[in-house]
Amino acid sequence: MQGSLGSNANSRAVKLQDGLMRLTAPNPSPMTSTGTNTYILGRKELTIIDPGPNSEVHLRNIMKIIPNNTKVTHILITHSHLDHSGLAPKLSKILNAPTLAFGTALDGLSNDMKNICKMGLALETYGIDTDFVPDHYLRDKEKISSREWEIVAHHTPGHLSNHICYQYLDKLFTGDHIMEWSTSVISPPEGDISQFINSCEKIYNLHCKKFYPGHGIPVENPGERIVELIEHRKKREIEILNFLKNREATISQITRYIYLNIDQNLLSVASRNVKAHLIDLIIKKQVTVDDISSDTAIYSLL
Ligand SMILES: [Zn+2]
Repeated sequence: MQGSLGSNANSRAVKLQDGLMRLTAPNPSPMTSTGTNTYILGRKELTIIDPGPNSEVHLRNIMKIIPNNTKVTHILITHSHLDHSGLAPKLSKILNAPTLAFGTALDGLSNDMKNICKMGLALETYGIDTDFVPDHYLRDKEKISSREWEIVAHHTPGHLSNHICYQYLDKLFTGDHIMEWSTSVISPPEGDISQFINSCEKIYNLHCKKFYPGHGIPVENPGERIVELIEHRKKREIEILNFLKNREATISQITRYIYLNIDQNLLSVASRNVKAHLIDLIIKKQVTVDDISSDTAIYSLL
């Protein structure tokens, strides 16, 4: 069944500007805000940015807001977390449209991170769409176009090594790289703090006017938000280094020190962020660890 673009058939669908709709998937949680945002850009030739989770309800809602007499020509994926790419194969088949992304979850890992994996750091599997393979592998700065629009793919590893932000004129679809309501979870080896900061600087230099994130409301002050996020990461790094000045410690001890008043439900996410900083500090040769494969490993200053 199909409706008309801009119709109010679904309260989770919002018309953001002429030729751009946002449809939020029914997967709200502390990790996803109100749910994953799927964007539909174009008037006659449409592209879908982030199909969202593998949900029958979300699939039906997407099909409802695609107008008659239009064609979905591309399905773009920011990164292969299940809540962004899970629906991609099904949607691609139904719409007969190709999927485009940087690659699988392991594409885009830095050489430093590959070396850390050789030292024994296990791959992260939480939330990752390990089956995801795009029809077309995008390169950094590759242009994707129809007769109506042109989009530039910017490889922005950090949250996930295969993360891409998509630029349309002076707007940027930022996936989970930059959001208004939350910082990104960075979980190594697929997540990488140094890559995240480099990607932030790269995006800053695009001077886009507005960000459309994978979760939550648009970012209206992109430059300020990027600076804030970089400062936040640098502050965390200093806190960890200061804590380790007088002692050696496990990830859990450092997490409890840094996140004093954190909600217990978010503690495991917080420890993944601490681990991301520690792995980054190992790469930068400022920290060492006795056994990187162990959850109770002891970290100390080098
Ligand atoms: Zn994600």
